[in-house]
Amino acid sequence: MNDREDMERTEHHPFERNKGMLVVISGFSGSGKGTLMKQLMENYDYYSLSISATTRAPRPGEQEGREYFFVSRERFMEMIQNDELLEYAKYVDNYYGTPRSYVEQEMARGKDVILEIEMQGALKIKAKYPESVLVFITPPTVEELIARLRKRGTETEDVIRKRLEKAAMEAEGIEAYDYILVNDNLDKTAKHLNYLIQDQHMRVRSQIAFLERIRKELRVNYAYMNQ
Ligand code: 5GP
Repeated sequence: MNDREDMERTEHHPFERNKGMLVVISGFSGSGKGTLMKQLMENYDYYSLSISATTRAPRPGEQEGREYFFVSRERFMEMIQNDELLEYAKYVDNYYGTPRSYVEQEMARGKDVILEIEMQGALKIKAKYPESVLVFITPPTVEELIARLRKRGTETEDVIRKRLEKAAMEAEGIEAYDYILVNDNLDKTAKHLNYLIQDQHMRVRSQIAFLERIRKELRVNYAYMNQ
């Protein structure tokens, strides 16, 4: 086992998980980010995946409370009114939003919370939580993107066309993200994403409590030696 693999089995930073991080994952529809998220959740136990509320109808095989909370437009508007959503956006004729309570609870438990959301929502999160990490996932080529959308088999040509149009718009906004990851191989990309997220815990600004402890210990030892 090489060092990198060894590090991957555990968290390769020495810090306590007092508070988790907020991680936003976006990508073109068909970038494979859904499968990537599944892989990440299966491989590591320190992540929690936020489940969004949406007004879109379930696709075949999707389950209430697993992929989404499927709600009516009325209920969605009520959630906005009651400030139950951390962010929300309209995407290709439907509303999507992140329920606030789960995210706050999981971060308080020390979990890194993943929001798999589109670009408008991602920007709202970054504005509200500047310490969040924004990652954009893309397939290697546009040809591959179209092939993946067609293979899904659940969308009409009109929806595919709308999603491509949306992708062209989103491609203009990728600079707002912190990282871009090319998803050319599921296992490799999942590992890469994990390193990338876990490395954020080593940012100095994420470790103020640790820093304070070191500073205090230094002061105490210095004072003791000067007695
Ligand atoms: P889909 O209909 O393919 O499941 O999702 C369409 C888009 O909505 C995807 O880009 C997905 O990441 C995004 N999305 C899912 N949940 C949320 C959410 O809670 N907020 C926002 N802003 N986008 C979301």
